[in-house]
Amino acid sequence: MTEIKLYNTKTRKKEVFTPIEADNVRMYVCGPTVYDRAHIGNARPVIVFDTLYRVLRHVYGADHVTYVRNFTDVDDKINARAAESGRSIGEITAETTEWYLEDMAEVGALEPTHMPRATGYIGEMISMIEALIEKGHAYAAEGHALFRVRSYKKYGALSGRDVDDMIAGARVEVAPYKEDPMDFVLWKPSSDDQPGWDSPWGRGRPGWHIECSAMAKALLGDVFDIHGGGLDLQFPHHEDEIAQSCCANGTDEMARFWMHNEMLQVEGKKMSKSLGNFFTVRDLLKQGVPGEVIRFVFLSTHYRKPMDWTEKKAIEAARTLRKWRALTDGVTPTNASDKFIAAVADDLNTAGAIAEMHQLASEGDLGGLLASGQLLGLLEEHMGDWVNRGGIQLDKLRELLTHAREEAMASKDFTEVDRLKAMFVEAGIEVRMGKEGVILAAFDDVDLSKLEGLL
Ligand code: AMP
Ligand code: ZN
Repeated sequence: MTEIKLYNTKTRKKEVFTPIEADNVRMYVCGPTVYDRAHIGNARPVIVFDTLYRVLRHVYGADHVTYVRNFTDVDDKINARAAESGRSIGEITAETTEWYLEDMAEVGALEPTHMPRATGYIGEMISMIEALIEKGHAYAAEGHALFRVRSYKKYGALSGRDVDDMIAGARVEVAPYKEDPMDFVLWKPSSDDQPGWDSPWGRGRPGWHIECSAMAKALLGDVFDIHGGGLDLQFPHHEDEIAQSCCANGTDEMARFWMHNEMLQVEGKKMSKSLGNFFTVRDLLKQGVPGEVIRFVFLSTHYRKPMDWTEKKAIEAARTLRKWRALTDGVTPTNASDKFIAAVADDLNTAGAIAEMHQLASEGDLGGLLASGQLLGLLEEHMGDWVNRGGIQLDKLRELLTHAREEAMASKDFTEVDRLKAMFVEAGIEVRMGKEGVILAAFDDVDLSKLEGLL
């Protein structure tokens, strides 16, 4: 069996991954808060952990991996959006959830095994908070329930922070109902116009962190294999999830491996609304950047490195994908090469895996190229329509050249073949002729004027 190594934030080391149960690998990834279109940064954890999901399915079998990614559908940002737009919370979360699924499908993400909504697990959250209070790890105060951070000795271990340093560094106003400034909210009261559920602490709603602890426990059990999310979630969100789950369940750990993707930037700058470089996945799709190209650009950078989205990268990615799609047209996938598998199994070295795909393409192992690409969620037939967009009728050109080549074989006069080939190359189309026949690969910058009279 392929040995997978993953970088574990918890130990700050790359470790050999061995699942707790070999026939059921369990992974939880923190999903979106649903009040707006996903921006391209939000697509990074989706693409990274989708790729890991595919690799795990490849190694352990498609039926032996359980992947959970939640929807946070109760949150103050959602309430604010409802208030300012005059629409109902249910309408906003339902619409945004649908958008999210559509956009993530466009970038080639498989649907996780389970996609729980926080509002479907309020009962489980209340039970978990009750268990924490009973064990002395939490307390009720003024309609709130709070986690007693000092009661959990390992608090801060994941992110390597010390509780006293954190307090010294923080200058937050401490709510009067908190015993200690570090304590965080498990439950908070709702006013009549806010969504709320009855609980032992009055009508209210859950804090954000408890959602993931309750949903992960319900769907994956007390201890599971991999927990993932963006680096911005490492503290406090993941630290709080660990504290809640370990204290409520009486376990040593919540997940064996903690994995974090680095953040995405745009043309070297942090993406933000005020800088005007903020865009959503849908914005890119509408501009004509295909989902497959977005995925390729993301996979070209290792997930633990900050990643820059640039137009140049998108153009280069489109060029490579067009070429690979042309090369593998009509080819049956065989097996991903050993080098390719070794790269993806080495802490998801997708950049190395793509380098190996270039190698397979130049060696002519087209079945291997296709199988490798599909393992990364690329070169799948259903994602390839974009290649034929833009008026470049490659099929027609291929037919012309194939016909001319057949005639030339008989007459031994290659003038017409050479003429066509020169025109294609001049227009920016790569031409290959071999025993597989004629292969044309068109790049973005095809100059149609150079093909006058042919189309
Ligand atoms: P949110 O809806 O803000 O909770 O974020 C959903 C997911 O997107 C989380 O896993 C975040 O860590 C991740 N995320 C948010 N912004 C970025 C970014 N700029 N780059 C990479 N991941 C991000
Ligand atoms: Zn979470």
